[in-house]
Amino acid sequence: MSRDPAVAVVGLGAMGSATLWQLAARGVPAIGFEQFEPGHDRGSSHGESRIIRTAYFEGEQYVPLARRAFELWERLQRESGAGVLIRTGGLMIGAPGSEVVTGTRHSVETHGLAHEMLDAEEMVRRYPAHRLDGDEVAILEEPAGVLRPERAIRAMAARAAELGALVRTGVTVEQVEETDAGVSVVAGGERYQVDQAVISVGPWLPAFLPGLGRNLTVTRQVMAWLPIADPAAFAPDRFPIFIHEADSHQAYGFPTLDGETIKIAIHREGEATDVRTVDRSVHPADLAPIREFVERYLDGVIPTVVRSQVCLYTNTPDGHFMIGPVSDRGRMMVLGGFSGHGFKFAPVIGEIAADLATVGRTLRLVAQFDPQRFAAP
Ligand SMILES: Cc1cc2nc3c(=O)[nH]c(=O)nc-3n(C[C@H](O)[C@H](O)[C@H](O)COP(=O)(O)OP(=O)(O)OC[C@H]3O[C@@H](n4cnc5c(N)ncnc54)[C@H](O)[C@@H]3O)c2cc1C
Repeated sequence: MSRDPAVAVVGLGAMGSATLWQLAARGVPAIGFEQFEPGHDRGSSHGESRIIRTAYFEGEQYVPLARRAFELWERLQRESGAGVLIRTGGLMIGAPGSEVVTGTRHSVETHGLAHEMLDAEEMVRRYPAHRLDGDEVAILEEPAGVLRPERAIRAMAARAAELGALVRTGVTVEQVEETDAGVSVVAGGERYQVDQAVISVGPWLPAFLPGLGRNLTVTRQVMAWLPIADPAAFAPDRFPIFIHEADSHQAYGFPTLDGETIKIAIHREGEATDVRTVDRSVHPADLAPIREFVERYLDGVIPTVVRSQVCLYTNTPDGHFMIGPVSDRGRMMVLGGFSGHGFKFAPVIGEIAADLATVGRTLRLVAQFDPQRFAAP
């Protein structure tokens, strides 16, 4: 790329690497800064797997974003040759009045999504590893699947570089300052002057932009891997991703990716923390709810955790994202507060960020994600 960068992307995790890829794909001169290496394990995007699904219980407004995200993940897969998406189908399980089931039903009905309703008996017949309480049901969605987050981030950053973006790894952005003329970025002791900056620093956001960050709560989330008795029964073509709301927990899990274990975790519920001081060790108390869920609701999974990892959510007060300018000047944009459900959307969020950075608007409905919605009146 011969011109000076017009856009700086701060943080090349899920959202930043996707933004850099989308900018570079449009021929926009851009530079991305990452304090570690793309695909590292200290932020919000590690741990081998992420769920992608279209039938969205968190809000039907996410359905068009999920559809577009699937197209872009497939494009990434084609262009990079990296295996980032495995289609497994998805099961949303719970009592008929649970958040997972009512929200999923609302999404499938509003958008006419293909799905199947399965009662407990049908679930036992088709998915014998799951044990349901008598009144529970499941909604099966075919397109859902597993994303490989570390590979995906590396592939997006590499694709951005191939298309001409400058990728600076091992470089921490120390300061960003927005003026009427542009944004000044200080990174690795050098100053860069750009037209626009995209701040995608994940759980570092509360420290990086304290004004916006005071609305956010970073939580410590534990993932656990447990051995399986029969790998074939938990293979991606037999065992769809699932979210099971039971006993007021939302537990979720994946098919086996290593032929020996499956990954299970509990959504939300992690304790508040700070990325700079978080306890990254896993303790027996962290694993107890996961083991209890497995003992009660899964057959063929040995309730002994053989591997575990801590990851971080960055939560907004309403659980919805923060996407948009940080001030009226409109030169600095934040992509943050993904509240534990952002990964699947990364490429479409990158596309939205590229729209906003280049033409100042997007066809996607992003007003609902306005970062200013939490500003004091
Ligand atoms: C346990 C767990 C399970 C999840 N499951 C799902 C799921 O199944 N499906 C789903 O869709 N989502 C899921 N999520 C949420 C999803 O992973 C996150 O929403 C998403 O990864 C957030 O991406 P990000 O780009 O905001 O943050 P990150 O990927 O953490 O990226 C931020 C980057 O900024 C860099 N950075 C920070 N400060 C600086 C600086 N000053 N200079 C340079 N670089 C900097 C960091 O090093 C980091 O690489 C899950 C999250 C967790 C923790």
